[in-house]
Amino acid sequence: MTDFDTAPPAALSPDPLSAARALDAADPLAAFRSRFAGIDDGSSAVTAYFDGNSLGRPTRASIDRIQRFLVEGWGDRLIRGWDEEWMELPFAIGDDLGRAALGAAAGQTFIGDSTTVLLYKLARAAVDSLPERSEIVLDTDNFPTDRYLLDGIARERGLRLVWIEADTEAGVTAEQVAAVVGPQTALVVLSHVAYRSGFLADLHTITRIVHDAGALVLWDLCHSAGSVPVELDAADVDLAVGCTYKYLNGGPGSPAFGYVNARLIPHISQPIQGWMGARDVFLMGPEYVPADSIRRFLSGTPPIVGMLAMRDTIAMIEEAGIAAVRAKSVALTEFAVALADEWLTPLGVTLASPRDPERRGGHITLSHPAMREVTALLWQRDVIPDYRDPDGLRVGLSPLSTGFEEVCTGMAAVRDALGELTHD
Ligand SMILES: *Cc1c(COP(=O)(O)O)cnc(C)c1O
Repeated sequence: MTDFDTAPPAALSPDPLSAARALDAADPLAAFRSRFAGIDDGSSAVTAYFDGNSLGRPTRASIDRIQRFLVEGWGDRLIRGWDEEWMELPFAIGDDLGRAALGAAAGQTFIGDSTTVLLYKLARAAVDSLPERSEIVLDTDNFPTDRYLLDGIARERGLRLVWIEADTEAGVTAEQVAAVVGPQTALVVLSHVAYRSGFLADLHTITRIVHDAGALVLWDLCHSAGSVPVELDAADVDLAVGCTYKYLNGGPGSPAFGYVNARLIPHISQPIQGWMGARDVFLMGPEYVPADSIRRFLSGTPPIVGMLAMRDTIAMIEEAGIAAVRAKSVALTEFAVALADEWLTPLGVTLASPRDPERRGGHITLSHPAMREVTALLWQRDVIPDYRDPDGLRVGLSPLSTGFEEVCTGMAAVRDALGELTHD
């Protein structure tokens, strides 16, 4: 630990480790940590996990749930399981998620395919519903899958992409959106929380601006679902998609969720017309007639095993309250920023995320030319951030599973690794 020449900043007083322990002791959500496998019983192979925003940790309840499902659900119920529960599971879990974390009333949220495939289905449904309009608005710093897909849709449908040049250390502003939308805009696709900088876009204002132009908006919630409250219904959002293996701890490759505003459901249709989206699934008629309900956005047989684990995190979010989850998330990133200012700024590191917690989600990015090597060294030491070009070490702090002492330990490891690598 450093000897301070001057008094440490208030957030780190009297010293960082004591400050971390005091924050843990005062954390109203601290008890949730022990519900994750490997935490508290000392069996976790990881000292500090800063990547819960890429792949969340498993809960103990999910491990039990999946084991029980294999034996009792699949093993005992066999094909009867579809009638008894599984046909409705994508919608039951969607409703739970909508209520707990997305501000979405029942009947609008479902668990579907991967985020990539759901983005395709919903973006195509949106542009096909406004055939007289010729433009899709997106930004240069959105996640690759979002940009690649929209490029494909534009080619497929003869549409034009209108790019917003996003600041990679911030994100897309309402002013930038207002400057490009117009009578030719069919669809605007943006991330609520930018995957690189953590910038939190103004979902309410941007949605209103898009609607004023007569267009539809599709929000990518991958980095907000489960850490930042989303008010889909209150903001009158049209469409949204998001990952469940990030803050929702659904496990590697768990299927994504989609949201379609109730006022749009009967009027838009997606292009992958499979039997599971049909009005009468078992009629098996000669041609496709989409279901009247949110079911029309399903295509094939739902991945039931993959959607089990997220249930336990959705239940925890509902128990804790998404506002409390967000409050802890802000406290975690504020603490990480204070540690970065204290330990890493003197080593040449800069914060590539908004400093105002109101304008950022659950992760921060720290920039330095050595961060690729730093990340590799840290992984060998069981401290797990991730690396994003250019020069960014991403610190993702999953609110229910991360403690303040863990943040302190991990940030000290970043400081030490950077010190070693830059002194060679
Ligand atoms: C993680 C992420 C994805 C991932 O999509 P997959 O289909 O699950 O691979 C898409 N978009 C954004 C913004 C993401 O952060």
